[in-house]
Amino acid sequence: MTDLFSLSGQKALVTGANTGIGQAIAVSLAGQGAHVICGGRRSCDETVATIEKNGGSAETLLLDFADPMAAKDTFKGAGISILVNNAGIIRRDDSVDYSEADWDAVIDVNQKALFFTCQAFGKELIETKQSGSVVNIASLLSFQGGVRVPAYTASKHAVAGITKILANEWAAHGITVNAIAPGYIATNNTEALRNDPDRNAAILARIPAGRWGDAEDIGGTAAYLCSRAAKYVTGAVLNVDGGWLAR
Ligand code: NAP
Repeated sequence: MTDLFSLSGQKALVTGANTGIGQAIAVSLAGQGAHVICGGRRSCDETVATIEKNGGSAETLLLDFADPMAAKDTFKGAGISILVNNAGIIRRDDSVDYSEADWDAVIDVNQKALFFTCQAFGKELIETKQSGSVVNIASLLSFQGGVRVPAYTASKHAVAGITKILANEWAAHGITVNAIAPGYIATNNTEALRNDPDRNAAILARIPAGRWGDAEDIGGTAAYLCSRAAKYVTGAVLNVDGGWLAR
């Protein structure tokens, strides 16, 4: 019987694959047999080397979403059937002081680039009559409000909405579109929180699993959502949060 979870023969693009969650997703997809194009605004050599050391296949593609249209020509004739939109940034300030520059920077990367990268991917697949999968990286702040992160919260709510509309429009074309909402995951993004003893203790006390998530926890979920095992899963925003939102 063929492996329901195999991604063998597929080509995947993972954005922001040089570190953190994106790196773990790239490694996980390659572990299931996909060739992974590691998109980053800087070199993804470390990710490519890890994948190759594990016997997988990968390459780097320089993509900087300071230009939200950066990936508009990436998919033409490239045979990419999996897209993981992981690149994201966060800027913190009180809402009353939040600057237009911070608002635009966060919305451009987290929301606008994500939509237009999906658009370029979906257009290519529909035109060439190929099936495929999109996984967008959402957040707990796709559901909750957060504090001092207005643009991030707006953008991550938008990621949930974009995921659902594209799932509706593309299901008939054999393209699944899902999102993962990671809980508190130990990466660069959350280093400041983990280094603050009070915040760290408060966060841990609220997580039913009693620990920070690892990037690998998200990698495994992404591989599942891109596999045949998930072919009837579309439009979902899957919480991978150690139980945080259930509490
Ligand atoms: P991270 O270590 O800061 O990684 C963010 C990634 O996005 C990096 O590869 C970064 O590249 C890339 N990126 C940022 N701006 C970019 C741009 N203009 N063009 C291309 N790539 C860009 O954080 P992470 O925790 O792994 O975050 C990955 C995703 O998970 C984000 O969407 C984040 O919102 C989401 N998330 C994280 C958590 C968590 O607890 N860690 C929770 C919920 C959601 P550089 O290294 O060059 O900056």
